[in-house]
Amino acid sequence: MTAAPTTDGVLVDRYGRVARDLRVSLTDKCNLRCTYCMPAEGLPWLSGPQLLTDDEIIRLIRVAVHRLGVTEVRFTGGEPLIRPGLVGIVSAVAALRPRPRISLTTNGIGLARLAPALRAAGLDRVNVSLDTVDRTRFAELTRRDRLDDVLAGLAGAAAAGLTPVKVNAVLMRGVNDDEAPTLLRFALAHGYELRFIEQMPLDAQHGWDRSRMVTADQILANLRAEFDLSTDPAERGASPAETWLVDGGPARVGVIASVTRPFCGDCDRTRLTADGQVRACLFATEESDLRGALRAGVDDAELARRWRTAMWGKRAGHGIDDPAFLQPARPMSAIGG
Ligand code: SAM
Repeated sequence: MTAAPTTDGVLVDRYGRVARDLRVSLTDKCNLRCTYCMPAEGLPWLSGPQLLTDDEIIRLIRVAVHRLGVTEVRFTGGEPLIRPGLVGIVSAVAALRPRPRISLTTNGIGLARLAPALRAAGLDRVNVSLDTVDRTRFAELTRRDRLDDVLAGLAGAAAAGLTPVKVNAVLMRGVNDDEAPTLLRFALAHGYELRFIEQMPLDAQHGWDRSRMVTADQILANLRAEFDLSTDPAERGASPAETWLVDGGPARVGVIASVTRPFCGDCDRTRLTADGQVRACLFATEESDLRGALRAGVDDAELARRWRTAMWGKRAGHGIDDPAFLQPARPMSAIGG
């Protein structure tokens, strides 16, 4: 492998992909226990000293924006809304120049209360995860009876102008795979943009089974039984979602088919975990420790150099279809989904 370029510049890998979209996990903890994500009892959480402080997070994002060409910052987790310093972190990132676009992926619990402050701090928009609009199913699937909080969070985000409000749904066979049209009707009625995400082998329990996952083709067939889906003329770019116009538009629906229609060739993402590890890919088995470097006192130029070296080694694809595929040691909740 040739060495990574050594001067400041963009986060390029050896296949020529440039990462401009930074996903930052603010915590590995969550207040839901979605059955496909983590066990009922939770996971061994990162301890306080392992987590980056607010200032450390802001510094690393500043390095990414000022020195590495990052233009999009997405906060995730775990559940990012449970991070006490969230509003301050958003505000510090919004003060960077050039100002990155700032978004948040959340389960929506507490968003009704926090949305105005987040908007005022500079958050541009949100993705809210919602796999079912059936109260009983929601309680079974998330192991918490919080559907009303999520619905209020969605409404609060829209009212605060965190738009477009996107809704992310994962469908699972025998759990909610009959709900694609219902979820789309719900999203259309409220002006939210719905995206289905194919379930990936990233659960803490290692229970993912390809033969049981609901594929993009199945989701689209279920939707087409009720809706006319036509080609979206908008450029897809590096977006993970392939989108369709619903009943002629302007409403859209998207499918993120990471498993059956991988888009690794266009990937523009780099990831920072809550404990300060850079990951080039959700499925990477290697991480690069920026927290240790930062706490050892290295300067911003050195942090940037390490980040660029980490990205240079990004693999061509996630390799889920490779017989030698190994699920990463950390689950989605600890990487940052
Ligand atoms: N707590 C936040 C939330 O609920 O959006 C952010 C973290 S959560 C891990 C981010 C997204 O990952 C959610 O939309 C969730 O449904 C999705 N997710 C979790 N496990 C997944 C898996 N194995 N495959 C696909 N998506 C998954």
